[in-house]
Amino acid sequence: MLKKSFFGFLKPWITYERISKKPLVPQTVSPPGQAVFIIDTPYATQNNVLLQPSVAVKAFQKLRLYEEAPAYAIASVGGKIAHIEPYIGSFGKKQTRITLDHDPHQGEDDSFAQAAAEPGVAILTDFLECLPGKPDFWRLQQREKPISTLLVCAADGDVMVNTRQHVINTRMDAVQDGIARLKSLTGIDDVRIAVPKDFIHGYGHIGATVHFVDTVYPAALPNLMIQQVMGKVVPAGKTPEDLGIMPISVESIAALTDSFQTGKPACEKILTVVAPDGTRHLAAARIGTCIRSVLDAFGIDVADGDRLIQGGPMTGSPLYSLDQPITPEMDALMVQKGTEVPAYADTPCINCGECNRVCPARIQVNMLIRFLEARQYQEAADLYDLLSCIDCGLCTFVCVSRIPISQYIALGKHELALAHSAEEVHG
Ligand code: SF4
Ligand code: SF4
Repeated sequence: MLKKSFFGFLKPWITYERISKKPLVPQTVSPPGQAVFIIDTPYATQNNVLLQPSVAVKAFQKLRLYEEAPAYAIASVGGKIAHIEPYIGSFGKKQTRITLDHDPHQGEDDSFAQAAAEPGVAILTDFLECLPGKPDFWRLQQREKPISTLLVCAADGDVMVNTRQHVINTRMDAVQDGIARLKSLTGIDDVRIAVPKDFIHGYGHIGATVHFVDTVYPAALPNLMIQQVMGKVVPAGKTPEDLGIMPISVESIAALTDSFQTGKPACEKILTVVAPDGTRHLAAARIGTCIRSVLDAFGIDVADGDRLIQGGPMTGSPLYSLDQPITPEMDALMVQKGTEVPAYADTPCINCGECNRVCPARIQVNMLIRFLEARQYQEAADLYDLLSCIDCGLCTFVCVSRIPISQYIALGKHELALAHSAEEVHG
């Protein structure tokens, strides 16, 4: 595998938008009539399933499919289970979709409140894995990869997204409290917070070392942030956790405080909503609310041919239905006008070199794409640094031939991971 110098900006040209002097105020979306939760467990058999249609569920109850399967969702509303069905996520990932008919009379589950009376580190994985921002608390239990640094990300990773900026701008006390709790629960003292450069000041008592992140995209993507904040390079094919660093959204930190203060796992997600005309809004919606309800709250219509995107314009991924739910990790929801959706093509690469010039990881993208198109994934990794890609999307953005480079890259990484895990199983 090639070992190149990893990052280096070539020409600053897309900048993150800072929150304006008149910050957006989140509009609360009414609790849904039906809530939908996706659990990271395949619905393999109906034997021994813990949840069944018609079963009553309390608000804030853990929804888990099998005793032996640790993945769960937290019911953001109480109600009765309407459907349980297999669900295919990205790249064919087998998951389960649970639809709940909201019934406010089902009461509230107090398991978290009981555990919070004498909390240990296990409360993070037992109850708080589905907090807004989707913290990877399970990584704290990986003994072979101990975490020594928590990196609180208060800069939004994608352009046009204001979710994390809103939290750090308005909930400083909750962030300070959450950092103190996290330190106490985990015993990790090295906590850093990365905030947008030139952003508001007054972090003196926040309880973490403050670092400022460049405002040029993609400086706030995790690997680049780590390089700026800690001077460490995440090697190709590795994750921040391989270096003992766990990134966590500032929204999760504030939600941690809310959970302990109310005795209920926080379930309200802040998300930036971008209308087809580019107007931005902030929504506060319960996790599990369907996307249609959020867009209706802002009077946003989705016409035939419009594209629905979860996440920002550079790193987001398409959504195929308005009935999909708001998830803990969904920081933004965009509707792109059909007339503005770039048409991808199978036009051949013309070797203009724009993708190479713009790539922050200094990958020879024009060569990489040839191997990916030919499905030669191992060669793409060995010869052209597929695994150094940080998924910033800039190459796709500039490609004059409209080649869906990011999609080829995502598929290549997925296929390579599958091949390697199969090798591990079969030796
Ligand atoms: S998405 Fe494209 S531009 Fe960004 S790091 Fe990967 S190859 Fe480079
Ligand atoms: S930007 Fe597109 S057309 Fe130009 S070299 Fe890269 S892949 Fe080829």
